[in-house]
Amino acid sequence: MRLAVIGGRAALVRGDRAADVSWASQGRLPSDPMALLEQWQRVRDWAADLSAEAYDIEVDPAALQAPVPQPRQVFAVALNYPPHAAEAGFTPPDEPLVFTKFPTCVTGPRVTVELPEGKVDWEVELVAVMGRSAHRVSADRAWETVAGLTVGQDLSERVSQLQGKPAQFSLGKSFPGFGPTGPALVTPDEFDDPDDLEITGLLNGETVQQDRTKSMIFPVPELIARLSAVVSLLPGDLIFTGTPAGVGNRMNPPRYLTEGDELVSRIQGIGEIRQHFTAVHP
Ligand code: ZN
Repeated sequence: MRLAVIGGRAALVRGDRAADVSWASQGRLPSDPMALLEQWQRVRDWAADLSAEAYDIEVDPAALQAPVPQPRQVFAVALNYPPHAAEAGFTPPDEPLVFTKFPTCVTGPRVTVELPEGKVDWEVELVAVMGRSAHRVSADRAWETVAGLTVGQDLSERVSQLQGKPAQFSLGKSFPGFGPTGPALVTPDEFDDPDDLEITGLLNGETVQQDRTKSMIFPVPELIARLSAVVSLLPGDLIFTGTPAGVGNRMNPPRYLTEGDELVSRIQGIGEIRQHFTAVHP
């Protein structure tokens, strides 16, 4: 099942057609995607019986919005792919290195991002979306708590990210528009293996990042186990799971996003998000 948001309303997507959840359920389910995530199993059961005729809306990819527009918590993980840890000059961590992207930075799949002052870099990431509350979940039960997967960009302004000793990441990762997500939330059963998906980042058509999610040091179930050992996870929470090698600040010479750039982030079985960049308008 693929859940998207169109005009602020939750919709199920099949191919290039969509079904408005509230209309198709004759009001039994809400149109608010955040409210749907609170009753995810009910949504899954209802969607399983939905007829093909219910998909009566033609999908305009440009009209898709963030599948989870207002997450209460957004977790992100640093150095979760060994080649990226190596390019950043670190040995692979023994524990997940967790920071937050403050939730106001979350946006949809096709947005223009204003570049703040500094050095803005790209990080294509698989994003796991929680489908129920979870505390102290074991890794072998963790997929049961996931509503679905989506594509994310952990856009990062490196100057403010690395300022101070020790550096604190969260502000530099949370400028407006720095958390684009989408194009849809895809349930784990849609994948042959949700732990092994090709992940690609393209800058102006050139592949700059490419790996498979099975390369992660801490895969999705392990991240949920480690996070939920401490924090109460909530429906709709996002977990940005880390980026493969190929970020701009580790290139020689370093390369950062500039006005006019186009960034495409793609994950097998989910789709792609596409960002354009402009200078900040004072
Ligand atoms: Zn990241």
